[in-house]
Parts: sequence; structure tokens; C-alpha cells
Amino acid sequence: MNPIGIFGGTFDPIHYGHLRTAFELLQALKLGELRFMPAGNPPHREQPMASAEQRVAMVRAATTGQPGFTVDDRETRREGPSYSVDTLAGLRAEHPTRPLCLIVGMDAFLELPKWHQWQELLQLSHLVVAHRPGWRAPTMGPLGELLVDRGTGRVDDLHEAIAGRIFIHAVTQLEISSTEVRRLIASGRNPRYLMPDAVCDIIASTACYARGQQR
Ligand code: ATP
Repeated sequence: MNPIGIFGGTFDPIHYGHLRTAFELLQALKLGELRFMPAGNPPHREQPMASAEQRVAMVRAATTGQPGFTVDDRETRREGPSYSVDTLAGLRAEHPTRPLCLIVGMDAFLELPKWHQWQELLQLSHLVVAHRPGWRAPTMGPLGELLVDRGTGRVDDLHEAIAGRIFIHAVTQLEISSTEVRRLIASGRNPRYLMPDAVCDIIASTACYARGQQR
């Protein structure tokens, strides 16, 4: 069975940087499924502006119709902080023999040692690091050592073991961030073409990023 990719994020809001990355990884890694996993109460950062329900609705709207893309809202339904290690343990219990690939950006990977029980992650899942503009893979320190030990350039390694490898993959670089999108909307500009129209429609109808948006 082909691996399940897990793409976690705040998705406040989802944009084409996320979607293109997910699509390229779905294809390049021959994933059976790519699951978008909106975070409920992210432990490492400020609280999102849009509600969990709005963020889930935007992710669903953005991904509907793409075979292989699914949305899993379990983290938004959980009380308290949502830690990746808990989410992965749940998925592992549901899929004991299927490879799991946790997808993170290079920026998130560089923060890995700050994640709750980060050393457990690789017992539960592979780690797939998507290159983002301006970030380089570490060559020294704990992450550099981890890459020497666990790094691979072979997609087959992600299919042959259910967890434990780190795969770094360059994706088309789209310099879009949710922060910039929110800023743009708050200044009254239209976010069209940074995200699917269905997402723009939800943003306009819920006014979840405040100020009125130009048509
Ligand atoms: P914010 O600006 O609010 O921090 P963001 O745009 O980085 O948000 P997140 O929801 O925090 O979006 O990101 C989820 C995941 O997607 C992270 O692993 C992040 O590195 C990755 N990601 C975000 N933007 C892009 C992009 N333009 N290209 C590739 N990956 C991205």
C-alpha cells in the first residue's frame, strides 16, 4: 500500500504555496493519499485568526476534486495543544502496516528539536522536508547528524519501511505565505490568484480576516 502523506499546517488561510507543494509531493513520492491536517491549537505560535471550522472549510474547498487529496480535521476536534507525535500515534494505530510520511517545510524542520517528543516522530513516521525559498538543509548539529543517519534520496525507501527515513525534496518555489495573505486582505486588497477562488469566496463571506475585500 502506498504511503499516506500528512501535510499539517495552520492553513490560516490555505494558499497555492501549500497546494502546489502537496500536489508535487503526491506525485513525486507516489503517495496513495495526501492528507491535509489543519492544526487546532498550535503549541508553537500565536493563535490563528480564522476559527478552526473556517480553516477546515477553506482546506476542504481548496482540495475538493483532486484525487488523492483528503482532509483530516482530528486536530481541530482535540482539546488542548495538538502535538504531531499524538496525531501520528493515532494514525499509526489506525494503519499499523502502512508507511506514513509527515511533510514539513524546511523552516519547520529546522525547528524540529523544539517539537514535543521529536525523537519519537521517526519511530512513527517518515519525515519529508519540502524546500522553501531561502532555506538550506543543516549539515551540522543534531539535525545534520540525523540527516546523515536517516536521510535518503530514494522514494522506494519511503515505500519499503513504514517509518524512520528523512527525504528532502525540492518543490516549485512559490513565495506566498499566509501571513502576507492576511496582511493583504486586512489592507483591503483582493487575494485572488494566491489561492483557489472557492477559498476567496469563504474569506469574503465570513470576513474572517476582517476588513472588506475589493472585488
Ligand atoms: P504563516 O505565514 O501564517 O506562518 P504559512 O504560509 O507558513 O503560514 P502554514 O499553515 O504555517 O502556512 O504552513 C504549513 C506548512 O506549509 C509548513 O510546513 C510550511 O513550511 C509550508 N509552507 C507554507 N508556505 C509554503 C510555500 N509557499 N511553499 C511551500 N511550503 C509552504
